[in-house]
Amino acid sequence: MSDPIAFIDLGAQQARIRDKVDVAIAKVLDHGMYINGPEILELEAQLGTFSGSEHVIGCASGTDALGLVLMARGLRPGDAVFVPAFTFIATGEAVAWLGATPVFVDVDPKTFNMDPRHLEASIATAREQGLKPACVIAVDLFGQPADYPALKDICDAEGLFLLADAAQSYGGALADKRVGSLGDAATTSFFPAKPLGCYGDGGAIFTDDADMADHIRSLRNHGAGADRYDNVRIGMNGRLDTIQAAILLEKLAIFEEELVSRQRIAERYNATLEDVATVPFVGNAAKSAWAQYTLRVADRDAVRARCQDAGIPTQVYYPIPLHKQTAYKHYPTGPGGLPVCDALAADVLSLPMHPYLDEATQDRIIESVRTAIAG
Ligand SMILES: *Cc1c(COP(=O)(O)O)cnc(C)c1O
Repeated sequence: MSDPIAFIDLGAQQARIRDKVDVAIAKVLDHGMYINGPEILELEAQLGTFSGSEHVIGCASGTDALGLVLMARGLRPGDAVFVPAFTFIATGEAVAWLGATPVFVDVDPKTFNMDPRHLEASIATAREQGLKPACVIAVDLFGQPADYPALKDICDAEGLFLLADAAQSYGGALADKRVGSLGDAATTSFFPAKPLGCYGDGGAIFTDDADMADHIRSLRNHGAGADRYDNVRIGMNGRLDTIQAAILLEKLAIFEEELVSRQRIAERYNATLEDVATVPFVGNAAKSAWAQYTLRVADRDAVRARCQDAGIPTQVYYPIPLHKQTAYKHYPTGPGGLPVCDALAADVLSLPMHPYLDEATQDRIIESVRTAIAG
């Protein structure tokens, strides 16, 4: 019997940096600044350098990061926020928190990211319905940046704010810009299984707008003003823990290498599976962070069951698009429904993907997936 295969093996990475993480955590225990310790500022500075963003604000999760940006924009009931329906629930959830209306938009069948033409049509429909278009949240699904140049043109023409939900794409890039510097602001997540993950919940916000950054820093800390006990706006407790920042600094030190490894694995999967399944399409100018490696296959559930029998863990991201979920199905969609989101929900299949997947294990996965698809 060979060893069980992990879908995402966090243990291999931990074994590599365990000594350094132990030292980093011990330092926090020694200085005792568990909240807003020096590691927070150090991490924010290093992330800013990494992604070419002027201001980085650590926060408690990728979901809070989205909520904080939308709060800073002053979103209110009657505002429409355009969200792709093929994403993790948090993208729509943060909009609903503020009483604004998520309007679900279809995605491109090749990249799985927001379809700019359907966005334009959806903006017109929302206006007809009496909503006030305010913001577009683009999601960089599975690690590939969305089509920011096209989305930015639409947002500029319509006067909308463009927020990048980069929870899955930190480390990716589009042309000469790294994720974090794409969009008017960007958010990411440090959930353990994301490309750059911590050992708990965490997230960050990226923007070049100094006023917005100050506003978000205040919101993150209960709406604090200059006087600690005179809160000047309604905020929240949305801070990143110092211990998580200390862990992230150690992980950031090996992140570039891990991205290279993810890219190599994705290329190998592509070369060995493209004759039996639709392999991921990454645009010419785009670099994916490969949070997920996701095929489109006919008869997906049967293929998945055969993989499981062969000891190959797979996942379905996402089986139910947002516009079909119980708490969200009353929100509007763009015109014509969302046929691409519906089709993807039926045929996507994600394979094990992490930087420590060795070639022998890749070969086992490739063999088994080919056999499973052959039936
Ligand atoms: C994971 C994820 C989030 C939320 O991040 P958390 O840190 O888990 O709150 C938001 N959007 C997308 C697209 C995600 O994949």
